[in-house]
Amino acid sequence: MATERTLSIVKPDATRRNLTGAIVDRLEKAGLRVVAQKRIQLTRAQAEQFYGVHKARPFFDSLCKFMTSGPVVVQVLEGENAVAKNREVMGATDPSKAAPGTIRKDFAESIEANSAHGSDSAENAAVEIAFFFSGLELVG
Ligand code: ATP
Ligand code: MG
Repeated sequence: MATERTLSIVKPDATRRNLTGAIVDRLEKAGLRVVAQKRIQLTRAQAEQFYGVHKARPFFDSLCKFMTSGPVVVQVLEGENAVAKNREVMGATDPSKAAPGTIRKDFAESIEANSAHGSDSAENAAVEIAFFFSGLELVG
């Protein structure tokens, strides 16, 4: 198994409810290491670019509104199989379908306001990490 990096976002529904620490705690307890982290307010243009793959989906406008509705914490996680591990700890997109003990099962408000983001492949992780961080900001 290879050491990987992935992009994680604590979404606005979670920062609003002061759940940043609780979410990071679960990721760290799963063996993932935070190697970069910052709290930012996304602009509409940044949200549209980040979620560009979903541009044609009916929820795109609402998703961009939600992702700009408050601060997010963007972070790079490192560890064995970090991409899959992060998504396992997050649980399914729809919290009603997420497994017990996952971040989304325990914290998400809805399929949209689902508390956390995780890259879905190593290729997309590299693109998403570069979107938010420079190489200088990644401190392993
Ligand atoms: P993410 O990319 O945020 O890690 P994901 O990979 O589980 O989540 P995607 O299919 O990539 O899910 O959708 C991106 C995000 O769009 C979801 O996390 C959620 O916030 C929102 N979303 C997805 N499907 C719906 C839907 N049917 N209705 C409303 N919002 C949705
Ligand atoms: Mg996704």
